[in-house]
Amino acid sequence: MNRSDPVTAIYPGSFDPVTLGHEDIARRTLRVVDRVVVAVAETATHAKQPTFDLEERLAMLRDVFEDEPRIECVSFSGLLVEFAKERGASAVVRGLRAVSDFEYEFQMAQMNRELHPDLEFIFLTPDVQMAFLSASLVKEVARLGGDVSPFVSTPVLRRLVAHFRGER
Ligand code: ADP
Repeated sequence: MNRSDPVTAIYPGSFDPVTLGHEDIARRTLRVVDRVVVAVAETATHAKQPTFDLEERLAMLRDVFEDEPRIECVSFSGLLVEFAKERGASAVVRGLRAVSDFEYEFQMAQMNRELHPDLEFIFLTPDVQMAFLSASLVKEVARLGGDVSPFVSTPVLRRLVAHFRGER
């Protein structure tokens, strides 16, 4: 890679749905790289059945990052390292909220390094206000009729309310 080439980082995840914590990490990443590719995994990582289908998750991400041309939102299937190679990315970014995230992230990073030694993993911590946020907790609160407006952007809030209205 030429040093003057733009540096791209992949931000992979399930984003089911994207929260303000994810947004914070993606925008922070732009402080250290030129472009971020937010990549929604088509195949769920820890065998989680997604609440929102792939198209809905992508649509929410695109709405949320509409203002930022340096962030692109796409989906990918198969190995993350292969996708990173295809996109010419030199790094993968992941968010670390607490020690509980660490072990899994550390394992994944080591395995991915075996598969693709040139790819670097960058771990960023969110704003302290987002440190307790998870998509699953937000969904749990929304499902029970709680107000999740402090935790997600407006387009996501709209879809969450619509989704869970039918379940209550
Ligand atoms: P995955 O299913 O791969 O864990 P998620 O969509 O849950 O994907 O999360 C994607 C990435 O964003 C992970 O690195 C996760 O730790 C990080 N993340 C999720 N929520 C937050 C948050 N509130 N603050 C910081 N990072 C977060």
